[in-house]
Amino acid sequence: MREFKVIDMHCDTITAIARANTSFVDNDLHISLRKLQKGNYMMQCFAIFIYLKGLSNPFEKCNEYMDLFDQFMKENEKEIAQVTTAKEIVENDANGKISALLTIEEGGVLEGKLENLQHFYDRGVRMMTLTWNFENEIAFPNYVYEDVPRCDTERGLKPFGFEVINKMWDLGMIVDVSHLNDAGIYDVLNNARKPIVASHSNSRAIWNVPRNMSDDMIRKLKANGGIMGMNYCDHFVSGNTDRNQIPDIVEHVKHIADIAGVETIGLGGDFDGISTPIGMSDCTKTHDLYAALNEAGFSQNDIDMMFYKNFLRVLEANEVK
Ligand SMILES: [Zn+2]
Repeated sequence: MREFKVIDMHCDTITAIARANTSFVDNDLHISLRKLQKGNYMMQCFAIFIYLKGLSNPFEKCNEYMDLFDQFMKENEKEIAQVTTAKEIVENDANGKISALLTIEEGGVLEGKLENLQHFYDRGVRMMTLTWNFENEIAFPNYVYEDVPRCDTERGLKPFGFEVINKMWDLGMIVDVSHLNDAGIYDVLNNARKPIVASHSNSRAIWNVPRNMSDDMIRKLKANGGIMGMNYCDHFVSGNTDRNQIPDIVEHVKHIADIAGVETIGLGGDFDGISTPIGMSDCTKTHDLYAALNEAGFSQNDIDMMFYKNFLRVLEANEVK
């Protein structure tokens, strides 16, 4: 019996593998199939990350990366399998298989067409960030990654953005507000028909950067029944790139647990989308995070909720049966 199991809501491994032209099973990245096994992963969300700037065909590009994901699943079907429901994750786990959930990081891949959302749902996508760091047809990002980086907190979802979130809830896809600006996050929270996630965002009270969530947002997320995934990127944890980030990650967890309970916390490491943090240097280091949370006084049940049970709850609540 493993002492813990892990569900992680966000990584950029598929696009990182494509760029590095390396293996899914064994590689030097933060995540490989072998490393997921060592890290006690029950499920990993694999985001297809699309860099919009200068790209004329985001929809097509996203599908190409998804073909690669499909190929990795096929080649390793005895050890890992794509899932679309919480029940399948539990069944795979019982059969010694890791689960993989396909997600999207950049709503611009829809190219402004609702029917493309249906297409991605049909490919198994069950979660999508509305934006990355660029404005798109849906909304505005919090950290604007243009020539002069700046924060845009005022402009909420565009009309197409409201259509998208409603269609996502009709279909059974989790709305992910990581990267979205403040006004957009409130638009989603105030209109949510299902639990949402901030798949890879920490607490602004602990480390004040726009990509993290304010206490007010976190309390509203709790009321919504949603969760936020702890991001291991040093820029979002403490800004200190020269020390072990694990004690700082624990500080984020303690604060969020204080104001919104452990039921509002999940994991979203952002592996292979970030520079390598000290401490959580790859996905096998979940053992160290588990030990640190134990040491900080979190019970086994608290950790089980944060590490996997909360996400299963949110996924199931979003499913359309
Ligand atoms: Zn991201």
